[in-house]
Amino acid sequence: MSVDTTDGAARVEREMALLSEAGVRLIAVSWVDNAGVSRVKGVPLGRLPQLVDRGVGMSPVFDMFLVDDSAACVSGHGGPVGDLLLKPDLSRLTRLAAQPGWAWAPANRYSQDGDAYPGCHRAFVNRMCEAAAVLGLSLQMGFETEWNVGPRSLGGGPAYGLSRLSDAGGYLLDVVDALTAQGVEVLQVHPEYEPGQYEVSTAAESPLAAADTAVLVRHTVRTVSHAHGLKASFAPLTTPFGVGNGGHVHLSLWRGGENLMQGGAGPRGMTAEGESFLAGILRALPALAAIGCPTPASYLRLAPSAWAGVYRCWGWENREAALRFVTGPANAASACANAELKCFDQAANPYLVVGSVIAAGLAGCDEALRLPEEFSHDPAHADPGELRRRGIERLPTSLEEAVRHLEDSAVLRKAMGDHLFETVLAVRGAESLLFADRPRAETVEATRWRY
Ligand code: GLU
Ligand code: MG
Repeated sequence: MSVDTTDGAARVEREMALLSEAGVRLIAVSWVDNAGVSRVKGVPLGRLPQLVDRGVGMSPVFDMFLVDDSAACVSGHGGPVGDLLLKPDLSRLTRLAAQPGWAWAPANRYSQDGDAYPGCHRAFVNRMCEAAAVLGLSLQMGFETEWNVGPRSLGGGPAYGLSRLSDAGGYLLDVVDALTAQGVEVLQVHPEYEPGQYEVSTAAESPLAAADTAVLVRHTVRTVSHAHGLKASFAPLTTPFGVGNGGHVHLSLWRGGENLMQGGAGPRGMTAEGESFLAGILRALPALAAIGCPTPASYLRLAPSAWAGVYRCWGWENREAALRFVTGPANAASACANAELKCFDQAANPYLVVGSVIAAGLAGCDEALRLPEEFSHDPAHADPGELRRRGIERLPTSLEEAVRHLEDSAVLRKAMGDHLFETVLAVRGAESLLFADRPRAETVEATRWRY
């Protein structure tokens, strides 16, 4: 995405004046690497015109970075030579409400000659949205954000317990106030299953905006937590045998103003296109696991009967299905119906997630795929013979297994392009090696404060 150049200079001046009036002196320009870590360059507000015009430099080696800041070594990628340009998306330039003096903008990445960089994750999302638009389709998406706080627990007590608001209420209010001030529409917030675990859900928006929002929400939660003397973790697991933090993704497919998840003759009222889109996602789930569950720690979270959706099936309001179909209130199903991918976590790069999910869904539309029969129980408690008969299997139980599926995915390779696809594979392979044979507790410890 490039900055509108017709009134570009005037617009930049306007943004600068507004931010300066609000006390902003620095802009955090961020991107997310293939390992799912958000990284940043800070640029003084007074340099916004140069930042928009020329970008700020950044080494391409970060595309090969792993969660521990070491880098995967693959010839032709990474290394100390070369530079990329980060350019802020002005349409998302946001004053950070919980971090006075700072604004934030997500970066598009370019080569030095001004071409879009083939490893740019936001460009990948835009390509997938354009591919949908060619068919007259658009997507609405949103991430759920779960997190744990440390080092002390705040809001101990029962899962979803009202009592927990007595000490955590002010903290959650600060989180929601900051998000709202930043233009993020909060749908709900609650104390999650574990003491010190919380969740906030935000409204559905375009796929690119949803991925940007996921980055902004986590950064905001982190900052507010810090102000409360706490540290926030979005890692898949924060204790070796605790409940995990999911990064569930909600999505609906639209044609103009019509939600294709409802109003049709398909299962649970889906239209044929809506059904095909979900069938494409369901088919690709083992490969998508390598995108949405991107690190060995992800597979420690993926336990049955923990609402993490570890079986490859779909079901209406079934929280143990990897693909939960949600129709919402009967009087608003045409607006609200959506599908929730429950298996993904927040180690995932949200741009890779939304782009890959769209690619898988569009392939389903292209082939007019149909969904299998829905499943209405917890597969972990079902008769294994029945699961076999219905083709319901566990999603990959290790990163290696997921990567083998990703390697075989012609759909995702074509969608990402060779460059992006190869760098993702290289990072996944190197992270598998990094954690190979490490005990569960060590893997959890090593990733707890990285996401
Ligand atoms: N914490 C669960 C997970 O790891 C999800 C709980 C829920 O469904 O909200 O995905
Ligand atoms: Mg939850």
